[in-house]
Amino acid sequence: MHHVKREISGWGRFPRRTCRLYRPERCSSLQALIRSGQEESWIGRGLGRSYGDAALNSDQGVILCQRLDRFLGFDPGNGILHCEGGVTLAEILDTFLPRGWFLPVTPGTRFVTIAGAVAADIHGKNHHRDGTLSRHLEQINLWTADGRSLVCSPREQQDVFEATAGGMGLTGFIRSAALRLIPVQTTWMRVSYRRTRDLDETLQALQEADRQHYSVAWLDMLAGGRALGRGIVMAGEHAAIDELSPSQRRQPLSPPSKRQLPVPFNLPGLMLNRHSVGLFNTLYYRRAPSRPATRLVDVHSYFYPLDALQNWYRLYGKRGFLQYQCLFPPPQSRRGLTEVIERFRRAGHASFLTVLKRFGEEAGPLSFPQPGHTLTLDVPNTGRGLLDFLEEIDQLVLQLGGRVYLAKDARLSPQSFRRMYPRYPEWLRVKRRLDPENRFSSDLSRRLKIDAEVES
Ligand SMILES: Cc1cc2nc3c(=O)[nH]c(=O)nc-3n(C[C@H](O)[C@H](O)[C@H](O)COP(=O)(O)OP(=O)(O)OC[C@H]3O[C@@H](n4cnc5c(N)ncnc54)[C@H](O)[C@@H]3O)c2cc1C
Repeated sequence: MHHVKREISGWGRFPRRTCRLYRPERCSSLQALIRSGQEESWIGRGLGRSYGDAALNSDQGVILCQRLDRFLGFDPGNGILHCEGGVTLAEILDTFLPRGWFLPVTPGTRFVTIAGAVAADIHGKNHHRDGTLSRHLEQINLWTADGRSLVCSPREQQDVFEATAGGMGLTGFIRSAALRLIPVQTTWMRVSYRRTRDLDETLQALQEADRQHYSVAWLDMLAGGRALGRGIVMAGEHAAIDELSPSQRRQPLSPPSKRQLPVPFNLPGLMLNRHSVGLFNTLYYRRAPSRPATRLVDVHSYFYPLDALQNWYRLYGKRGFLQYQCLFPPPQSRRGLTEVIERFRRAGHASFLTVLKRFGEEAGPLSFPQPGHTLTLDVPNTGRGLLDFLEEIDQLVLQLGGRVYLAKDARLSPQSFRRMYPRYPEWLRVKRRLDPENRFSSDLSRRLKIDAEVES
């Protein structure tokens, strides 16, 4: 099959690698491709919204899902949608939201594919209540390394199902998945905002917000001392028809705003420096209502505020940025969060967007969430110094029993990975059974020395 050789990256633009890109038109040609032996190894790639090297395969085969994007079936009786792996969340929303159906779990962007979402076992603002995407899957259809088609689900081939959700594309190529959509009456969210004065108040408000369907906190990274960890806690619920104004009620499922502003070129990395990030943080904090307030907001503005700024990674300039997402289990959460925020502040690593969420139950062996708190920070890539600094943060996270999210990662060491994911041996047994020759591999899997011995 024809391929093109191209330098590509994940969303953070670090690292960039030259890969051979294949774009099959049909699932049947994919089977022949995997069996062909044309490449030493393969990895699937969706929309490239993972931040690091999960969907890269230097000088080897990357299979793009763009053309494998068909809806295969929908049952309006129970909301089960079966679709190919290349279907995007944006396409699902465009088609099914006007009919009163929403995604059971969604990340902070709608521009990800179903296959990418399954491979990362994504979580959303409702993890405390609804878990990761895998909890809402009826089944996954895989092409395995020997070109076989395999169906797995929570009832059938359960170990393959659990290893694939969160397995970062390394158990095989995800052809299609069936997921349960949830019914909604409107395209509006009822969102309550509460401004908090310090970390304790933020954690308390987040816990109270968990009574709602969705909850998240934005943290003001400029605030230190007693105000450290202050922010805005936002709790959300799908609005019912009777909460809308008379004019909104006439079309409760009218499409939400999809306006997108382009960032037309790379801005110098310095645009997002300590001062501009500080200013943004202060303005954002001040703009929130000083007393608790509730507003109706359309679903896109609530779930996908960053999607309104097309190619926003360009704000970070050519060197790109790293996103650090870690989690701390209780009872270490408070200490871990305080230390991480303090160390980022002290080191002068300005995080543009810092987000805190609470997690509920854990899922498969490589699925990221576990009970506790997860913190996400975006930092411009300043080179070696930043990488060394993040490695120190890894050690802190490890000491407190936490872990980092592979879908956001570009630099974790194989040793730290093994300690953060103690169920890795369980996952590896399934991987070796399905793919004894390690035909599905990526730059991430080689960096983490997946399927290789590592000295501790
Ligand atoms: C602005 C933004 C906000 C985000 N917010 C969240 C969030 O709130 N929660 C969250 O969990 N994540 C979040 N993410 C991360 C994102 O949801 C995941 O990285 C997701 O995997 C990206 O999907 P993708 O289609 O772009 O896949 P890619 O980035 O292309 O690939 C991701 C992984 O999926 C694998 N893959 C892709 N297609 C296939 C296939 N057909 N078969 C097998 N494996 C495949 C790849 O090999 C890779 O390991 C966010 C990302 C961005 C940019």
